[in-house]
Amino acid sequence: MYKYFDAHCHYSFLRKRYEGYFIAAVSMDYQSSLDTLSLKSDNILVGVGIHPWRVHEEDINRVLPLINRADFVGEVGLDYRFAKASRDLQIAYFERQIEESKGKLINVHALDAWEDAFNILIKHNVKRAIFHWYTGPLTLLKDIEGAGYFISINPSVTFQKKHQNVLEKADLRILLTESDGGYEYRGKLLEPTDIPEILIYMSKVLGLDEDYLIRIIRDNYARAFSISF
Ligand SMILES: [Zn+2]
Repeated sequence: MYKYFDAHCHYSFLRKRYEGYFIAAVSMDYQSSLDTLSLKSDNILVGVGIHPWRVHEEDINRVLPLINRADFVGEVGLDYRFAKASRDLQIAYFERQIEESKGKLINVHALDAWEDAFNILIKHNVKRAIFHWYTGPLTLLKDIEGAGYFISINPSVTFQKKHQNVLEKADLRILLTESDGGYEYRGKLLEPTDIPEILIYMSKVLGLDEDYLIRIIRDNYARAFSISF
């Protein structure tokens, strides 16, 4: 039985085995999408897509045909702070990948673009989506919940005030955990093995028994990815 559920991990950059972990492996571009697809296994779901940071240098027509081989689409979305591509081009890429998803979950990056990303998902009638490392407006959390979408809590929750406020405000039914593994943050390489610490922190803040919290997250994860454990 899996104990730890990683909703967002750049697994193709790590390529290690993580026993007891169930991992959603996201991609950034064409090459990592190919790599990720080749890593599918019992505890690894595979996602393909073009990250907003890569939109300016990636050909979308190479990635779209890979979507039907994937379990979900991601990491895709919008980034109004760091991306080099224009907002219009980011939106065009995001929408094309959603159209091609045909009901699959969308694993969303939406830094400083939370409302726009949410509205695009709604406009395209997306049923399942995860806002990864959610640090957006607290007022949007009810809409995310209403739409049946999820947010994932990142290792930064132990020190990032904005993310802590989100954790305190969000309904339990929309919470997932993620490592954003493979990504280096503040000089540390993130990994799925950071998740146990997130759970300890969450159970303390939420005042919930850790095993109970793990069951909630497992159920949320199953609904999000439309799988059963
Ligand atoms: Zn990521």
